[in-house]
Order: sequence, then C-alpha cells, then structure tokens
Amino acid sequence: MKLILATRNQGKVRELTNMLYGEASSTQQIEVISLENYPDAPEVIEDGKTYAENAVKKASVIAAYTSHLTLADDAGLEVDALEGAPGINSKRWAGENATDETRIAKLLEALEGAPNRRARFIAAIAVVHPNSNPEVVLGVCEGHIRHDPVGESGFGYDPVFVPDGYHQTFAELGEEIKNRISHRAKALEQAIALL
Ligand code: IMP
Repeated sequence: MKLILATRNQGKVRELTNMLYGEASSTQQIEVISLENYPDAPEVIEDGKTYAENAVKKASVIAAYTSHLTLADDAGLEVDALEGAPGINSKRWAGENATDETRIAKLLEALEGAPNRRARFIAAIAVVHPNSNPEVVLGVCEGHIRHDPVGESGFGYDPVFVPDGYHQTFAELGEEIKNRISHRAKALEQAIALL
C-alpha cells in the first residue's frame, strides 16, 4: 500500500516517516512517499478556520492529484498569555518570509514579562482515500515556553517548547522522545488505526 504525505515541510516528513516505520509500528509495510516525488503537485492554500479543516483540505487535494491514500497534518502552537496565538497562524504569524528563528524571536518578545507561559501544540491529521470521505483526528501536547531557545533537533518552535513532565525542550529531547509524546505522535497513533 502506498501512502502520500501531503507536506513539503522536511521536519514533518522526517517525523511522520520515522513514526510510521518505527520498530513497534504496524505500518512498516506501507510505502511512504513524500511530495518530493510530486514536484508539480498543487500548492494548497491553508485558509481553513481550524486545524482539521486545513488538514482535510491538504489531504483531499493531494489524494485527488495522486489517486493514492493521503495523509496530511496541520498544526500550531497555542499560547495562553497570547490568547491562543500564534495558533492556526503559526506559520505566517511573523510574516510570509519568516524563518524558525524570526518566529521564535517574535514569540519570546511577545511573552516578555508574561508570568504565565503555558502553551500547547495541537495537530490535526487527516486521512483521505481517493473517492471516500476524509477522516480526521486531533492530538495535543501541553507544556510551556522557555525564555530562550535551546537544542538543535526538530523544527519550528521546538527550541522554546518544554513539554509537561520534562525539563528540556523538544529540540533538546530529540526525535525519539518527541516522536513518542508530541501532538503529531498522538494524532498519528489514532490515524494509523484508520489506514
Ligand atoms: P503547519 O501549518 O502545520 O505547517 O504548521 C504551522 C507552524 O507551526 C510551523 O511552521 C511551525 O512553526 C509550527 N509547528 C507545527 N508543528 C510543530 C512542531 O512539532 N514543532 C515546532 N513547531 C511546530
């Protein structure tokens, strides 16, 4: 069975592939294919109001284009002191040409002096078989935002996010631990049951 991952984010491709091919995983026999193999695949505008809407849109467009079973995720970071921002806008929050570094810098600046640094990552994963109704699941990982970035692993806001139960950031904990406890891991666990 072929499974297309509807993302061009290499950090996500790596995480999802490692989780799907993980030692204890029941999905090792699936042939996981990223959008790198489909350079002309349409760009999907992420204009949904929810993570689920965006994930379903991405997976549906790519399933229609490739005619294969497709999995897409949409994720964001919700910070209590910022009333849930950056949230669904996590990618564009610091501008269209922002980098992970400028996004983190903006987040830390916005949180300067804030006593409450609670935050959570949320991920929606949609699975779409061509010609059938999309299915979508959600995963949440609670934690807090550090005052300065540390760690090299992962992507996005990982260097400033400390998941509950740990003292290190996702970027310090590394992929093996992140891929067990993250929002995406929790959503993927449920999504695997749908494959
Ligand atoms: P997307 O729209 O799902 O690609 O995610 C939006 C943004 O959320 C990404 O560009 C990252 O900045 C951030 N994000 C999503 N998932 C993660 C994660 O696992 N770690 C760190 N940042 C993430």
